[in-house]
Amino acid sequence: AADKIDTIVSLSKRRGFVYPCSEIYGGQKAAWDYGPLGVELKENIKRQWWRYMVTAREDVVGIDSSVILATEVWEASGHVATFTDPLTECTSCHKRYRADHLEEAYEEKHGRLPENGFADLNCPNCGNKGTFTEPKQFSGLLSTHLGPTQDTGSVAYLRPETAQGIFTNFGQVQQTSRKKPPFGIGQMGKSFRNEITPGNFIFRTREFEQMEMEFFVKPGEDEQWQEYWMEQRWNWYTGLGLREENMRWFEHPKEKLSHYSKRTADIEYRFSFGGSEWGELEGVANRTDYDLNAHSKASGANLTYLDQETGERYTPYVIEPAAGVGRAMLAFLLDAYNEDEAPNAKGVMEKRTVLRLDPRLAPVKVAVLPLSRNPQLSPKAKGLAADLRQNWNIEFDDAGAIGRRYRRQDEIGTPFCVTVDFDTLDDNAVTVRERDTMKQERVSLDQIQGYLGSRLLG
Ligand code: ATP
Repeated sequence: AADKIDTIVSLSKRRGFVYPCSEIYGGQKAAWDYGPLGVELKENIKRQWWRYMVTAREDVVGIDSSVILATEVWEASGHVATFTDPLTECTSCHKRYRADHLEEAYEEKHGRLPENGFADLNCPNCGNKGTFTEPKQFSGLLSTHLGPTQDTGSVAYLRPETAQGIFTNFGQVQQTSRKKPPFGIGQMGKSFRNEITPGNFIFRTREFEQMEMEFFVKPGEDEQWQEYWMEQRWNWYTGLGLREENMRWFEHPKEKLSHYSKRTADIEYRFSFGGSEWGELEGVANRTDYDLNAHSKASGANLTYLDQETGERYTPYVIEPAAGVGRAMLAFLLDAYNEDEAPNAKGVMEKRTVLRLDPRLAPVKVAVLPLSRNPQLSPKAKGLAADLRQNWNIEFDDAGAIGRRYRRQDEIGTPFCVTVDFDTLDDNAVTVRERDTMKQERVSLDQIQGYLGSRLLG
């Protein structure tokens, strides 16, 4: 439900996942900063993606290209001419919208497109009907000026996707890594789009992070590789805990495909924003040989591949799984959010909030909690925290009742709480409490690293 998003937004702010950007100046609209827990969660998501898509595979390598590429890149790729969104404005309340989003929302609600086009649509802001202007194309590219003068010669674009840095480096990466198609090049990093209607928390922002992989294949093998990557990407999300009931595929209709695409299928997640239930999490596109051809033609570089064995020369086709870090984080948070009950100090059941995040994603892996603030327990617990910190992100907390401290860790998804109590001083063992089951187990201190290691995985 829509109020779950609000709950996540306020939890994020209160616990230090995500803050409004530049808030001391009143805030920068639709921009967000990641706090101490947010940066850990985000980096864990990226680490898992990089492992799964790049380092755990023999056939994929990574790069990190510039954010600002030669302007010719964006001219050749078609972005300068066609990376546009249709903008419409309500003549009554002057709110601006992306025309395609208005149509999609109508279709989701009524199961069909509006019969009379825009004349049938009500403005979501003021409610008036048929008050929209004819949609005009609006460039999604953010530009800047390089050098000391602001003449037109120095205009440069901030990349709207990381993919083009991969295409321009295709030849060099192929040669230096000695890979043969089918092989891929992955990249993660910031992208920028001049979105008309940023919003819905971190779902749509003008500055965001992408995780993209371009997989180069022999023409004719592209369709089966797209199926393969669609399956892989679905499994990546479910493997890290997203529930399938909150996911679905959306197949882009042929007439609405991007200028480079032969087929695009999106993984959608049930974000449940007010107004629309489903939102794109990631797209898996068949970009054909469009980009390599365009850059070969415009730059004169030879971006073909010569198969030494058959003597055949071809321009590879490209399958691209393109994901957003922020959207993945929001989906993982929404899916993990849970309210259940736990006994308080008197044994009475009380509501507890728990983030059931996969341990690989959890921002804090273990909390070390001395039973009470005490000259014997505290140093022992601090020493244990320092040891564990060599391997994982650890929190140490000795303030307040133990039950309250458990609740604080549950709320941020910490998989394990380790309690140091008076028995520890005798038996050299600690109590480990697991987040989801709340089961407690006594583990000896000389085995604690191995115990946690096998349960925290990567
Ligand atoms: P949308 O239709 O929602 O604008 P898109 O189809 O333009 O998205 P792609 O070009 O396929 O998006 O980009 C790949 C991924 O990058 C998206 O699935 C999404 O996760 C992420 N992404 C794209 N635009 C944004 C944005 N403005 N803010 C946050 N993430 C984004």
